[in-house]
Amino acid sequence: MSRAVITGGAGFLGSHLCERALAEGHQVVCVDNLLTGRTENVAHLLDRDGFEFLQHDVSKPFEVDGPVDFVLHFASPASPIDYLELPIQTLKVGSLGTHNSLGLAKAKRARFLLASTSEVYGDPKEHPQKETYWGNVNPVGPRGVYDEAKRFAEAMTMAYHRYHGLDVRIVRIFNTYGPRMRVRDGRVVPAFVQQALTGEPMTVFGSGQQTRSFCYVDDLVEGIWRLLMSDLREPCNIGNPHEMTILEFAETIRAAVGSASPIVFKPLPVDDPQTRQPDITQARERLGWEPKVPLAKGLESTIAYFRAVLAEQRAAHV
Ligand code: NAD
Ligand code: UDP
Repeated sequence: MSRAVITGGAGFLGSHLCERALAEGHQVVCVDNLLTGRTENVAHLLDRDGFEFLQHDVSKPFEVDGPVDFVLHFASPASPIDYLELPIQTLKVGSLGTHNSLGLAKAKRARFLLASTSEVYGDPKEHPQKETYWGNVNPVGPRGVYDEAKRFAEAMTMAYHRYHGLDVRIVRIFNTYGPRMRVRDGRVVPAFVQQALTGEPMTVFGSGQQTRSFCYVDDLVEGIWRLLMSDLREPCNIGNPHEMTILEFAETIRAAVGSASPIVFKPLPVDDPQTRQPDITQARERLGWEPKVPLAKGLESTIAYFRAVLAEQRAAHV
């Protein structure tokens, strides 16, 4: 039986990956310092054979006893609100955390997979974004702490591949949504769904004409798993090319919830990318992967999840 270490395993994506790895018959060591994640995300796995939880900050050196076959490095604040509040931790986990995770993979002769991001393309001047595009990032802007940390993490990963011969994969994840996002993590899906469900105004930033392309978590996990098992050593975009404006997205969520929330416009955050859409030709050709879950279906389960969480929170306060 093989064994996977998943850093950031108690977060949104990490917890779904822990489940997938267990379902594929691997043992899982979930390493997380609970900075933006929660034990609730993996509470249902704690009693499962082959699942271990290790509370640790991966920006500090760490060891894992016994054999390790895969290291999946997902630890990092991921919501703009989180990484603006945690700039130093974000830079540290992308640099030192990546270095420590690569060191673990090297010591164990394990395959390493880095969770990178569409943010390495910054506010892109090429559209849609292919993996060959080098990006347009402001290194000293407030988002630079995340973008540059991930760009450094990619460079470090490729250096370990070239210098140490480490077997590496790099996934560039585009906006992904689904159950287990934190209600108040500030990203657009939890924000709009929570606002629509509670009848609060839906806060569209800027004119709402900026675009994003949203991928459902099950599709993303399938793409990551295929990449992990493939022989593709170059960075690979995984995301859903279905692009829409944020204003259209707000209207879609409002209709899906059946809400009467008004839409209000708030200032656009500094360096907010104007467009974003993955070119997934490589994933299609090399991994035989493309997203399958339509937005309406993905939103249905996401809305049901947030409805249940908000009901629990209300019950806890009465
Ligand atoms: P998340 O905030 O839910 O999960 C991140 C997890 O990392 C949390 O559990 C947090 O506690 C943990 N963590 C942070 N710093 C740590 C540290 N120093 N040591 C140990 N654990 C630490 O966010 P997510 O959406 O699940 O994102 C997971 C990964 O995927 C991140 O690396 C993120 O950059 C990347 N990503 C996500 C998206 C997306 O749309 N969700 C898009 C692009 C990239
Ligand atoms: N956004 C918004 N209202 C919100 C939260 C976000 O209009 O309450 C916008 C944000 O300005 C960006 C897009 O939605 O243009 C996606 O934001 P998110 O924070 O989810 O991720 P990003 O793609 O910017 O990393």
